[in-house]
Amino acid sequence: MDLKDLYRDVIVDHNRRPRNFREIEPPRCTADGHNPLCGDKLRVYLRLADDVIEDVAFEGSGCAISVASASMMTESLKGKTQSEALALFERMHDLLTGRESAAANVSELGKLAALQGVREYPTRVKCASLCWHTMKTALTGGQTVTTE
Ligand code: ZN
Repeated sequence: MDLKDLYRDVIVDHNRRPRNFREIEPPRCTADGHNPLCGDKLRVYLRLADDVIEDVAFEGSGCAISVASASMMTESLKGKTQSEALALFERMHDLLTGRESAAANVSELGKLAALQGVREYPTRVKCASLCWHTMKTALTGGQTVTTE
């Protein structure tokens, strides 16, 4: 199995069985994200304990890439501080838009690296990055975000 097959399998698995697909009751941070280009709509929930993300979840509907990306994001954010989460947002933004070049850095992202293939499909970049923009909006006190 080559790396591309492996990446595809990770995305298919997270789309079929999204992790942390649920609501988090208040107190929480939440924001809605919308990608009109594809029709993806996600709501991201975060619960903070001091500065640490104690719980993170999402709901919504969208294409396989948007759902798999959100599922993987929730797994990667639990236990991170707010500043670590925002730094990861920047890393993912660079990965998805092709600015993250060194393969060694990509391997540090673990499963999230599975999404790097979308950079070859510009219309899919917004699908994969929607959850990250929504998470950032929730963390920084916003309500809604759209990719347009
Ligand atoms: Zn989409």
